[in-house]
Amino acid sequence: MTSVALGMPSVRTRPIAERRKSRQIMVGSVPVGGDAPVSVQSMTTTVTADINATLQQIAELTASGCQIVRVAVPSQDDAEALPIIAKKSQIPVIADIHFQPKYVFAAIEAGCAAVRVNPGNIKKFDDKVGEIARAASDHGVPIRIGVNAGSLDRRLLEKYGKATPEALVESALWECSLFEEHGFRDIKISVKHNDPVVMVQAYRLLAARCDYPLHLGVTEAGPAFQGTIKSAVAFGALLAEGIGDTIRVSLSAPPVEEIKVGTAILESLGLRERGLEIVSCPSCGRAQVDVYTLAEQVQAGLAGLKVPLRVAVMGCVVNGPGEAREADLGVASGNGKGQIFVKGEVIKTVPESQIVETLIEEALRLAEEMGVEVDLDDEDGPGAQVVVG
Ligand code: SF4
Repeated sequence: MTSVALGMPSVRTRPIAERRKSRQIMVGSVPVGGDAPVSVQSMTTTVTADINATLQQIAELTASGCQIVRVAVPSQDDAEALPIIAKKSQIPVIADIHFQPKYVFAAIEAGCAAVRVNPGNIKKFDDKVGEIARAASDHGVPIRIGVNAGSLDRRLLEKYGKATPEALVESALWECSLFEEHGFRDIKISVKHNDPVVMVQAYRLLAARCDYPLHLGVTEAGPAFQGTIKSAVAFGALLAEGIGDTIRVSLSAPPVEEIKVGTAILESLGLRERGLEIVSCPSCGRAQVDVYTLAEQVQAGLAGLKVPLRVAVMGCVVNGPGEAREADLGVASGNGKGQIFVKGEVIKTVPESQIVETLIEEALRLAEEMGVEVDLDDEDGPGAQVVVG
């Protein structure tokens, strides 16, 4: 099968900003920081001790594009499940530990790719930091210092009155300094807050004061819609300044949704190659076709098509031809007809009733030209028919 360039226009965009220069750590096989691409991660919602359920969820996350997964380790049973989970997971597993230093050692011994500790809860084991640093260093396991507004160190809460950006950063850097005293710098940091404004300010401060890679997160961001908005706004602001090395979108929704949102954020910012993108107008009084239905039908028809393709669905001739020409494929509608554009050229005009099928046909043809095998006779729909060649 031949592979051809789609010609103008390209869906590749320049990254939004030069990345902050951070030191690089390895979370298992995934580099974080330095010049590594910004990675997307999530956390399982299963009881970690339920090994099958946890591995099943990790498999679903992996299939959705998750690159690093975190599992909670609140009990001995969870700690005992870690060796199997770490071994069988296809992506690096981070153990999330609060309160109990013994689970940090268990996670390191279990082969976890990293351990997350929370300084707000870790105070009791500040004196264990040397031992943790030694064990982590011996096993090549990085530590995430994960500060969270909801569990800020009591001393800092008293000093600042609440979880201010300064308090979050001081907590993180204090904990880092304890590890640094033992020569351990294999660290990444997060300073999460549920308010995107405080969160952004905290990460900006932190970015200026250290070179550790940063894990971005808006904590307790809320249900899917609100959490998506908060995360997109906060991550967008920071990534636009080059700040952020790995991201976790926190949603009160299945973790696979977090990966979809995180991936879409990175694609929107040009930090990851875009997949299929539908550019559709919002419609207005000038629309001469039902744009919503057209856009939805095209999206449904191409769902799952894993190919960088921009498809424009436009309602009239005001912006329609321009957008359709700029996309890889598009339609400018008007008077019950649709002008179909491919690579900037009008290839045909079809009646409104044939717009969707023509766009899908042409998209699949372009996908094939890009080396993606598409079985047009499969009854499960184009998305399920695609095999990347
Ligand atoms: S393309 Fe036409 S129908 Fe769509 S929003 Fe613009 S002016 Fe309105």
